[in-house]
Amino acid sequence: MGIILIIMPFFIGLGAWLLLGKRSAPAKCPALVFHEVSNKPSLFSLSEISQKRFTAFADELVRRDYRTLRLSDAVEAPAGRGATVALTFDDAFESVFTLAAPVLRHNNQTATIFAVAGFLGRRSTWDVYAARTHCSAAQLRQLAADGFEIGSHSLTHPDLRRLDDRELAREIGDSKKLLEDSIGAPVTAFSFPFGSWNARVWEMVLNAGYRCATVYRGAAAVADSRRVPVYGVYAFDSTPSIFNKIDTTVEFSLSRAQSRIMAHFAKGSAVVKFRKEYKR
Ligand SMILES: [Zn+2]
Repeated sequence: MGIILIIMPFFIGLGAWLLLGKRSAPAKCPALVFHEVSNKPSLFSLSEISQKRFTAFADELVRRDYRTLRLSDAVEAPAGRGATVALTFDDAFESVFTLAAPVLRHNNQTATIFAVAGFLGRRSTWDVYAARTHCSAAQLRQLAADGFEIGSHSLTHPDLRRLDDRELAREIGDSKKLLEDSIGAPVTAFSFPFGSWNARVWEMVLNAGYRCATVYRGAAAVADSRRVPVYGVYAFDSTPSIFNKIDTTVEFSLSRAQSRIMAHFAKGSAVVKFRKEYKR
């Protein structure tokens, strides 16, 4: 475990450097995407972060005077004074409720949590290695009541680009309605499963009434300010490397490049199962 975590960032960083060159323009309000927070580190899950590291990072945000914004506020509010960051969680695993939210609440911080509407309170089926439990409707309701933003991460976590219009409308529109019924508040932020989207998917997201979405960085991604580029946080990240991703004064960040590579190959998920195996 230890040696992998030491060697891995080096090779990912080297690959990023070779493949992507050194330009990586920073965003106005930087945003991060977390997945699982854990007290029992898993050998296979690069997308999880320990509660200890998450706490250290959240505390450092306070120390450095960063304001945390909900994604929809980050998009709609004009650039205010001081450093800001939008924290997001894809998949709304139960650990966000049990391990991350208490830390954020304690620091008076907020986040946007993207739930897979068809899997509330159930275990995920699209990761090959570990089936993890998602927040229940009651837990999401509690999070929303505490000021966290609940966004949609689709109904069943498919690659949206592969769906026909009817299925696409279900994944995007029905998930919104289901989540709104669950939490009793509007849902206006979207996160694409596996980070996969195209012009048709984006248009459907807007037509359904969403006002913003997170995207992995790329030229097309940043062409519309309602699409907010996010950098993933992974098991090998430390507090300084996470800050590297959100520091808008740093033009080239190795940590950002690493995130891009991770997003490109893993799409935020360890290994992707075939759709037919996990269709609801
Ligand atoms: Zn996901």
